[in-house]
Amino acid sequence: NALQAGEAVQKFKLEKEMELRFEVEPRQPLLLELLCGFAEVFGTELTRNKRYRFDTGAKAAVFTWHGCELQLTGRADVSYTARETPMLFYLNVHAALEQMRRTASRGDEDRGPRAMVVGPTDVGKSTLVRLLCGYAARLGRRVTLVEMDVGQGAVSPPGTLAMLSVERPADVEEGFSLQAPLVYHFGSTTPGSNIKLYNKVVSRLADVFNRRCELNRRAAVSGCIINTTGWVRGAGYHALIHAATAFEVDVIIVLDQERLFTELRRDLPHFVNIVLLPKSGGVAARSKEFRRESRDDAIRQYFYGFRGAFFPHAFDLRFTDVKIYKIGAPAIPASCLPLGMSQEENQLKVVPITPGRDLVHHVLSVSMANGPQDNVVEANVAGFVVVTAVDSDRGLLTVLSPAPRPLPQTLLLVMDIRFVDLK
Ligand code: ATP
Repeated sequence: NALQAGEAVQKFKLEKEMELRFEVEPRQPLLLELLCGFAEVFGTELTRNKRYRFDTGAKAAVFTWHGCELQLTGRADVSYTARETPMLFYLNVHAALEQMRRTASRGDEDRGPRAMVVGPTDVGKSTLVRLLCGYAARLGRRVTLVEMDVGQGAVSPPGTLAMLSVERPADVEEGFSLQAPLVYHFGSTTPGSNIKLYNKVVSRLADVFNRRCELNRRAAVSGCIINTTGWVRGAGYHALIHAATAFEVDVIIVLDQERLFTELRRDLPHFVNIVLLPKSGGVAARSKEFRRESRDDAIRQYFYGFRGAFFPHAFDLRFTDVKIYKIGAPAIPASCLPLGMSQEENQLKVVPITPGRDLVHHVLSVSMANGPQDNVVEANVAGFVVVTAVDSDRGLLTVLSPAPRPLPQTLLLVMDIRFVDLK
C-alpha cells in the first residue's frame, strides 16, 4: 500500500476550470493529495490533505472550479494539466436537469428528468453519468442510475443490467456505494449476442423504475440517468431507441457523434430534448485487452471485494440441488420452429443445461425465480457464483461464492462470461 520513501513527488498548481489528468503505471499505485483550494474527481469533492490512492491502469482527472494545488506521489504513466475541458457544458446539463427536478418537486410536473447518455465507445459516457449522479446527490437528490452497459458497468459485474439509487457521490477510489442494487441477468458482454433478451430486460428495468417512482416521490422527482453501451449502429441503435421509449426519456445527451445526434432527432418525438456535447480530450481510448482485463477485475472485485477486502467461499453443490438454465436457444430456421413459435420466443427460451466440464469457469447468476414456471427472464438476481470444477461421476459442482452455503435460491443461469480464479 504505502509508497517507498524517495518516490517521485510532483506538485501542480491549477487555475480555475483546469484539470489535472493522469494514468497510473502498471504495478505502481499513485497517491493524490489536495494541498489547498477545492477540487473534484468526476463529481466527487476531494477532502484536503487526504491521500487518495489510484491503482494500476486507473485513468482519472482532477478538476477545479476555483483553483487548487495538488500533489501526486508515485510514478504516473502520463500526467498533465489541461485548460480545455467540456466541464462547463456538463455543468449546464446538470443545471437544466436540476431545474426540471425543482419543477417536479413544486408539483408543476409529476416527475423529474429521465436522461440518457449515449455515444460511441470511449467518449466518457460512464464518467458523465457518474458526474451527473454525483452533482445531484450533492444537492440531496436521490437519482436512479440505470446501468445498461453490459460490458463495463459501474454497478454490477459484466453480463448484467442494473439499477441503483444514488444517495451520495461515488467514492473517489472505489466508485459508487453498491447498497442494494437491483440486478438483472443478461449473460454476455455485448447486447448483440441476444438483442431480444437485452430489450426485454431494459423494458423490465423501465417497469420497475416506474413502479419505484409511484411509491417513492423523492425517486420520481430526482429522475434517472441511464448509461448505455458504445454500440450505436444497426441493432445497437434500435436498442437505444427502444430504451428511450421504454423509459420515456426527456433528455438525451449525445457525446461526440453528430451522426447519432441527427439520427436520434429524426427518429424520436420532438419533445425529447437531444443535445450534442463534445467529449473530453482526457478520455482515454481503451484497447480490447484492457477492456477484457477490467471486466476480469470487476468479477474478481465482486468475489474478493475492493482491494481484496472479502473472503469468498468455495463449496460443492449436488447436481440435484440446483437447476441450471441458459436463456436463449440457438437460432433455427423459421421453417423448423414449432408451430406458433417465433424466433423471438426462441431467444427468450429458458433452456435446461446438464452440468458438464464445459461449465467450468463460467459465471452463473443466482436467479430470484423459484422455478422455470416463474418469469425467469424478468426475475432479478440475488448474486453470482463461478463454477471452479465439475465432477460428473459424483454429480458434484464446485463453486466460488461470495457467501457461505446454502445458496439463497437454486435456479442458476449460465453466462457466456468466464472467470478464472487465480487466487
Ligand atoms: P465505454 O466505451 O466503455 O462505454 P465510456 O464512453 O463510458 O466508455 P468512460 O468509461 O467514461 O468512457 O471513460 C473512459 C476512461 O477515460 C475511464 O478510465 C475514465 O476514467 C477516463 N476519463 C474520463 N474522463 C477523463 C478525463 N477528463 N481525463 C482523464 N481521464 C478521463
